[in-house]
Amino acid sequence: MTKQLIVITGASSGFGAEMAKIFNASGYPLLLLGRRTEKIAALNLPGDVMIKKADVTNQDQLAQAIHAGEAQYGPTDLLINNAGVMLLGNVWQQSPTEWQTMLDTNVMGVLNGMQLVLPQMTARQHGTIINMSSIAGFKAFQNHAAYVASKFGVHGLSETVRQEVAAKQVRIMLVAPGAAETELLTHVTDDHALTEYNAWKQTMGGLTLDPKYVAQTVKFMYEMPQAVNIREVDIAATRQD
Ligand code: NDP
Repeated sequence: MTKQLIVITGASSGFGAEMAKIFNASGYPLLLLGRRTEKIAALNLPGDVMIKKADVTNQDQLAQAIHAGEAQYGPTDLLINNAGVMLLGNVWQQSPTEWQTMLDTNVMGVLNGMQLVLPQMTARQHGTIINMSSIAGFKAFQNHAAYVASKFGVHGLSETVRQEVAAKQVRIMLVAPGAAETELLTHVTDDHALTEYNAWKQTMGGLTLDPKYVAQTVKFMYEMPQAVNIREVDIAATRQD
């Protein structure tokens, strides 16, 4: 079967960049999105790859990027809502601006993307959306209140929409990874919370999840036949508690 368009948000680093590489190596046409497009370009991926600047909190910008990708490659068959932010801190000290950034990016960003592709997917009765949640989407972690709230939100909205579009043969999937080495922690402003997080990571003996296994998992989920929906995967380093 001809390979159809895959759109990945947050393709400039971490899981998103690994997913871009693995799908590119298998010849899928890709629309790779992020705010730092120069970092996506630096991946140097050959073939059918379009790179567009898009902030997922800005639905108009996201829509323009997706329209450009679809004009070139046809309808999006897989949207990976991967872009996300994790800013640590306890509720009585963290700035509400940081809560807003997480809720806007991790929840509104996912809803924005879903709303843009679902009309054509339900009309075609074909398509898949994979939302990146986290183990923090079903389990609490200290210093993560707003992040946990955002990722519990991703779990809840994903299952809701899955039920809404299942009869239209559209798949909504969710991936909940454990701790991995990416750029996620580089935005944390609370040094104390960061120190505690790094101390917790040491309980894994430095053996956190390699992002390439998340990318492999996402590809496996997508490549199942359209009639099969791997609804949720929880993947972590073996040593994570
Ligand atoms: P990174 O920080 O490496 O990547 C995050 C990506 O999101 C970047 O490409 C960034 O691109 C993009 N992004 C952030 N804000 C926006 C925005 N407003 N608009 C568009 N893109 C944005 O972290 P990860 O790869 O770890 O994170 C990817 C996903 O995985 C996130 O949803 C995260 O919550 C989740 N996750 C991560 C875990 C981990 O331990 N690393 C564990 C569990 C889940 P740019 O700045 O160029 O816009």
